[in-house]
Amino acid sequence: MQTASHTQSPTHDTVTLQRLTLDRVSATYVERGTTLVALQDVSLTVQDGELVALIGPSGSGKSTLLDIVAGLYPPSAGRVLLDGEVTETQERLGRTAYMRQRDLLLPWRSAVDNAALALEVHGTPRRQARKLARARFPEFGLAGFENAWPAQLSGGMRQRVAFLRTVLAERPLLLLDEPFGALDALNRVAMQTWLLEMWERERRAVLLVTHDVDEAVYLADRVVVLTARPGRVAHVEPIALPRPRQRDIVTSPAFLKHRATLLDALGLLRGNADGVSAR
Ligand code: ADP
Ligand code: MG
Repeated sequence: MQTASHTQSPTHDTVTLQRLTLDRVSATYVERGTTLVALQDVSLTVQDGELVALIGPSGSGKSTLLDIVAGLYPPSAGRVLLDGEVTETQERLGRTAYMRQRDLLLPWRSAVDNAALALEVHGTPRRQARKLARARFPEFGLAGFENAWPAQLSGGMRQRVAFLRTVLAERPLLLLDEPFGALDALNRVAMQTWLLEMWERERRAVLLVTHDVDEAVYLADRVVVLTARPGRVAHVEPIALPRPRQRDIVTSPAFLKHRATLLDALGLLRGNADGVSAR
């Protein structure tokens, strides 16, 4: 999956390393002879240790953008740089840890074997991969479900197994596509808090897609807002809230100001953004 030159993280002399740069990226789909433009001229960066949230109406190309970064779909124009180097689509495969929006677990593998999959794919022997995965089940609220089959787990639990699998992949850039979408409100807040704690400890670069304005402001250093299709960058909002962040920050005036600005950028204050929520 990887070439040797990609297996080591580069030594960096600069203080901040741009893990990801999208430079005027466009994407199209051709269906039954019609070309649909999903993304147009999207530029953004994610630096090492930075959590960037991507938000936009449904159909604005958020999942397409992550597929492009992960090397699963080619852009029709523009450049994608990883660690400052221009990459071809194929070269990006396996270089990021990607939790897709509809990340299915393999039904014939137990929860722990599903979680261990990313490690196994990257060459960790099965026994060791299992051991590493098992050790983190309690942290993900999955203790006791190690040997359960996916069909025996709730939607929220399956999502947490998929999330654990992604985190275990230990890539310097984490791509998360609505990772908490299937969770109820309480589990959602619990996983957001868990993600914040992990991230504040490990400081990996994260590009997080969400349709939840509050989630974006609570978690991110920067929020990138996409327009309705074709997705273009409508607004970039730096979130200057202090870290580590406590949950009660969601009621602070600074939080509410960011929230209002983002709702406005999304057109929600005018009531026309589809599929974006502010609870
Ligand atoms: P989002 O994740 O923001 O909801 P997507 O990236 O899934 O948006 O989709 C962007 C647009 O591209 C949508 O109009 C969608 O219907 C279209 N699209 C996505 N995937 C495909 C595909 N495989 N074939 C054709 N059209 C697609
Ligand atoms: Mg999507």
